[in-house]
Amino acid sequence: HEPGPQEGQTSSRKPAFVLVVVQDQTENRRLERMRTDFVANASHELRTPLASLTGFVETLQGPARDDSEARDRFLSIMLDQAGRMRRLIDDILSLSRIELRAHVRPQTSVDLCEIVRHTNDALGPLARDMKMTIRLDLPETPVMISGDRDELIQVTENLVENALKYGSTGEVVDVSLTSKQMGEGEIAWELAVRDYGEGIAPEHLPRLTERFYRVDVDSSRAMKGTGLGLAIVKHILTRHRARLDVESAPGKGATFKVIISG
Ligand code: ADP
Repeated sequence: HEPGPQEGQTSSRKPAFVLVVVQDQTENRRLERMRTDFVANASHELRTPLASLTGFVETLQGPARDDSEARDRFLSIMLDQAGRMRRLIDDILSLSRIELRAHVRPQTSVDLCEIVRHTNDALGPLARDMKMTIRLDLPETPVMISGDRDELIQVTENLVENALKYGSTGEVVDVSLTSKQMGEGEIAWELAVRDYGEGIAPEHLPRLTERFYRVDVDSSRAMKGTGLGLAIVKHILTRHRARLDVESAPGKGATFKVIISG
């Protein structure tokens, strides 16, 4: 900055500092694009069950007014659609809450073994309904790391729920926690959730954590999910400076690994 004569008294002095603001317009545009895409996708996902609800209400008011058998069937579908809208809204809110805190690593001391056991207890009934068994392989002593217990439970619950959902019926889901040497004496923990279901084709693997990305959009299993589970997992792990690895091949099941340090 060259001070001009109009700056009077200060004109002979050199500026104390120069502030340079460099804005990466490309990055700004990319983020803006992501936000608008997200709003568009979220609206579309919410509109689908809403359209179905409206359609059933109209049918119940008109053609099916006196058909009690049809009414019971329609009401139960309407309840499912309302549940789907609730899950979507819960996940959208969850994602935006995590994004707000994205840059701060949580500092509370939490026990990863306890988090896995809690998840096992919470999902036990669902596993039994689906005729699946969750098998745990955990160290005997607590594994303490810095983290947010509720968020890490959300991670393990999402991964185990997916393994139950996409694993094959009557099979097991293996959950293990092992230590990993990271070089220079640094130790990380690897939490692995493995299922023995259909697996995932390689072209889908890089996109799994995108919001609303589903491999088989039309399958009834995919309809039960929101397509936001793994996006939430990824955001929580980023905040914990942790990583998500996926190993899978069609017909060979899938293993989701969380690599997290103390
Ligand atoms: P959803 O709510 O649809 O389960 P997620 O974000 O949790 O959404 O997962 C995204 C997609 O990744 C799923 O729709 C499914 O196609 C695929 N996926 C996730 N976990 C598994 C798994 N264990 N085995 C096979 N496919 C999986």
